[in-house]
Amino acid sequence: ALWKLDTLESANGYLTSHESNPPRLHHFIDGYFGNNSESGKWIESINPRSGKLLLQIPSGTVTDVDRAVDAASRAFPAWSKTSRQERSQVLIRISDILNEQKELFAVWESIDQGKTLARARVEVERAVSNFRYFATYILHEEGAVRYVDGQPSTLTYENRSPLGVFGLISPWNMPLYLLTWKIAPCIAFGCTGVAKPSEVTSITAFLLCEVFRQAKLPVGVMNLVFGDGPGTGSALVKSPRVRGVSFTGGTSTGIRIRQDTVADIGKHLSLELGGKNPTLVFDDVELTKAVPLAARAAFENSGQICLCGSRIYVQRAVYGKFLPALAEYVQTHYKLGETMGPVVSREHYMKVRSYLVQAWEENAVFHTGELPDEAPQQGFWITPTVLSGLNTDSRVMREEIFGPVVTVCVFDTEEEAIALANDNPNGLASIVMTNDLARMRRVGECIDSGLVWVNCWLVRELGTGFGGMKASGTGREGGAFSRDVFTNLRTLHVSHS
Ligand code: NAD
Repeated sequence: ALWKLDTLESANGYLTSHESNPPRLHHFIDGYFGNNSESGKWIESINPRSGKLLLQIPSGTVTDVDRAVDAASRAFPAWSKTSRQERSQVLIRISDILNEQKELFAVWESIDQGKTLARARVEVERAVSNFRYFATYILHEEGAVRYVDGQPSTLTYENRSPLGVFGLISPWNMPLYLLTWKIAPCIAFGCTGVAKPSEVTSITAFLLCEVFRQAKLPVGVMNLVFGDGPGTGSALVKSPRVRGVSFTGGTSTGIRIRQDTVADIGKHLSLELGGKNPTLVFDDVELTKAVPLAARAAFENSGQICLCGSRIYVQRAVYGKFLPALAEYVQTHYKLGETMGPVVSREHYMKVRSYLVQAWEENAVFHTGELPDEAPQQGFWITPTVLSGLNTDSRVMREEIFGPVVTVCVFDTEEEAIALANDNPNGLASIVMTNDLARMRRVGECIDSGLVWVNCWLVRELGTGFGGMKASGTGREGGAFSRDVFTNLRTLHVSHS
């Protein structure tokens, strides 16, 4: 039934009629749905707009994870030997089916995560692109063969082979997009895998497995287990037969995964973690452009994107105009239930609220927004909030809130702006707004973040490196960076003398 509902109306109608008997999702192992969790336990997934039960997912056990790893291990020898052409064609079939069903996926993503339908549509398009991009990338891989310097009869070249079974673990904020950002390169480079989506948002991962079946992805190449982090995710990471882990999520979980795998030297680890990203607004900008850009970077997906600019620093000459203009823009353009959704869960609502309580206690100025109710009523709605007047050492200024909250501060010089931007343990992304070409480079090349956007935000080119500096992660993904994650490199020297 989930597969057939492709409009918001039909999905809402279905949910209302199934309120007392919500759907249950099933693991996808060895090409089959339904061989369910041996734990017999179910995790409740809640609709963030209403606070009501949406569906149940199995709580995967170590045995469930083992079965999935078994399936991926059995599939690996044959899949790793398929030609690039063959793999590319499977990826194209997956992207075509996903594309045909994109409205179905967008509708469910919007319901499950709370994001607007418009936002969900963008992310599903990007998921389609993930498969298309790697389908093409693998066909154009080239390696240079050359002679060893000074040895005219000894050739040297590099050769790669798929690493093996991967554990692919993703968060709840952009569920399908981020999971496919791992699944697409995993199967493109000849690996097999076990994916574990967030227990908070599971529907689109489940539907994606139906796409795999229809696209005739060979059985066992990609498997899916549902469950929470400490139980299911941890079992997957620790499995000795899992040769690599690609993880996107919170920094504390990333640290845990690193600790859990520290003795397993050969295991590839790619960690894409949290951010507390600065937006620098210099006084040569046009406010009519800078304000909407800063607002979008702060409040897109209710501030629940790891790349959101959640600390805005404005140069003194424009600070006095920027701050009220931002508050007004946010009030008119970010309306709960229309252009902005709720936050994802009760737990997350309480977390975001705790930062707002702290800001209140520290006498921050609320230019727009308010303290949310102590207990959420009918969904997890938080009004977009613009704060100023906090000290730089406040937790609100230093820690990732991951919600619709932005702080605004003033700066005087370029050096001060760079120092403020870099004064944080995280280093994922940053936004610089200026019309001065020399400054674009000067500032952009000094900020300690894996991604720097100058006069833009969220622009992606799938071949460039994506990832963070400092506490925001280890390694990069995208194009050749993903190839390095999913393959093993050997260098050969061949003498024909
Ligand atoms: P999270 O770390 O709580 O969970 C992410 C995933 O890890 C989930 O599937 C969870 O079940 C699993 N997990 C939890 N504990 C685990 C463990 N011990 N072993 C293995 N798996 C475990 O993060 P979240 O709350 O779902 O997502 C929000 C976070 O993700 C934010 O910090 C955000 O910045 C970050 N994020 C980063 C990027 C990026 O590309 N750098 C992108 C999106 C989100």
